[in-house]
Amino acid sequence: METQPLAPGLYIVATPIGNLGDVTRRAVETLGRCAVVACEDTRVTGKLLNLLGLHKPMRRYDDHASDAAREALLAEMVQSPVALVSDAGTPLISDPGYRLVREARARGIAVTSIPGASAVVTALSMAGLPTDRFMFAGFLPNKDKARGDVLTELSGVPATLVFYETGPRLVASLEAIALRLPAREVAVARELTKLHEECRGGTAEELAAHYTAHPAKGEIVLLIAPPGEAEAPDEDAVDAELRAALVEMSPSQAAGKVAKAHGLDRKALYARAMELKAGELKA
Ligand code: SAM
Repeated sequence: METQPLAPGLYIVATPIGNLGDVTRRAVETLGRCAVVACEDTRVTGKLLNLLGLHKPMRRYDDHASDAAREALLAEMVQSPVALVSDAGTPLISDPGYRLVREARARGIAVTSIPGASAVVTALSMAGLPTDRFMFAGFLPNKDKARGDVLTELSGVPATLVFYETGPRLVASLEAIALRLPAREVAVARELTKLHEECRGGTAEELAAHYTAHPAKGEIVLLIAPPGEAEAPDEDAVDAELRAALVEMSPSQAAGKVAKAHGLDRKALYARAMELKAGELKA
């Protein structure tokens, strides 16, 4: 394995999401050859470095890092190789690093990515839901209203939706999905790459019942299948929804609301809303 120091710059290094066996050869080599390791939590990364038999100076860098801390790291990577890791998985994916990478690139500092595990891709690859298009949307909000609004906003997206989730919030999220997207197939991927790995599919209602009876522990990815043919309402149902919306909003707003709810074409619905409105005026 190469042991010479690396060229100066920023090295984004993915680490395992639970199973040390998933650390890549390049990750070990890069961590071994960098001058310092920037990390969210020096205890967590210190443990990983120990397991890999590496001893490196660490710099704490998280979402709350001050501008001065970021500047110091940027100055360091002009002179020497700096690795950025997060507690687990790929940095920047619901983890710190975005501003650091953006700023490094803006200053012409070389940025290299050493890919590896990430829970979003691991979950997608095993859940059995469509993978041709997916949308990763981070964590759902904590509050009921905000969580519901996000689900409504994303309900028409023609892609598998992927969220990060935690055990204590899982049932509330599943109940919110059951309310807004009752027909969708949902999957809960839990403790990926670890001893108690599990991937369970069903409707949100079924899964909410299951996890109420068997509270989920550990780390979780929640996936929602895209809107399917079965969910597309027939023309009469669309007309009924448009008429109801037209009572309190303009044709454009009514079309937007119904299009969003069902993932339908907004322009076509606007034309139909105008027809319905003209029909009502004549009647
Ligand atoms: N950067 C990480 C990545 O690339 O996956 C994600 C960091 S984010 C702060 C932590 C969240 O990722 C957890 O709350 C969980 O939703 C998800 N996660 C991380 N490891 C996981 C695992 N082994 N199994 C399931 N989900 C996991």
